[in-house]
Amino acid sequence: MFLHKSMLQVWIQCPLQFKLLFTEGQPREVTYEMQLGSMFHEFAKDFFDYVDLKTARKCQTLDEVKQVFRRLVLPEFPKVLRKLCVNFTSFEALRYWTLRKRGRLDLYMPIARELTVSDPQSLMAGTIDRIDRMEDGSLCIVEYKTGRPQIRSVQRELAFYKILLENAQVYKSPINWLAIYNPTENKFYVKKFTDQLVRATRRRIRQFWRALERDEFEAKPGLHCTWCPVKHICPVVGGEQNEGDTEDTHA
Ligand code: SF4
Repeated sequence: MFLHKSMLQVWIQCPLQFKLLFTEGQPREVTYEMQLGSMFHEFAKDFFDYVDLKTARKCQTLDEVKQVFRRLVLPEFPKVLRKLCVNFTSFEALRYWTLRKRGRLDLYMPIARELTVSDPQSLMAGTIDRIDRMEDGSLCIVEYKTGRPQIRSVQRELAFYKILLENAQVYKSPINWLAIYNPTENKFYVKKFTDQLVRATRRRIRQFWRALERDEFEAKPGLHCTWCPVKHICPVVGGEQNEGDTEDTHA
């Protein structure tokens, strides 16, 4: 089994949920939010293939760049998706404009998008939304979050990717930065990785493999049970058990 960041996040929240979802392969509901997130990720990935940088170079104002970038948001997009994409193109126009003023347009294009990496040594894998090069020459891992991200837990997800990329030795440049872009609120968050964050994430990964080895998946009920995709079969909150799990009740 390869460990993905979403698996680690679920295991941290509730080991039983992890077990039901990933070791027993129980089906999970695909929500509208998940579908919207996928459509936005697709747009953000394709944006850089089609953006008209030749015309953007001739623009005299930031508003003109925004108009050029916005042409990629098609009228037939569903309304909610359109709003996210318009925000994204505005954000990208601002990033383009700022880099142009600094004479660093060489940094505008991401160096990777939807990059799939796996490392057979550490048994870690994942698909990274985007990687940018920063002005200091180091790399920045960028994550798109369409919901309301909990910055602390997303930072851990990005530290997971840093560890994965370093284990797999994908880049020679150091990976010093993490960034989160939320198109719903058009908010961008960027900061340097701290040693403490990376150490804590490594510790979590070690704990995960130990628990898996020992087959320890205790339930951690809480407010998050409300949104748990397997609550219908979770015995802790009164969900239906599978036939094989009912031995105790019949004893
Ligand atoms: S309903 Fe709660 S306790 Fe049960 S698996 Fe889901 S998160 Fe864990």
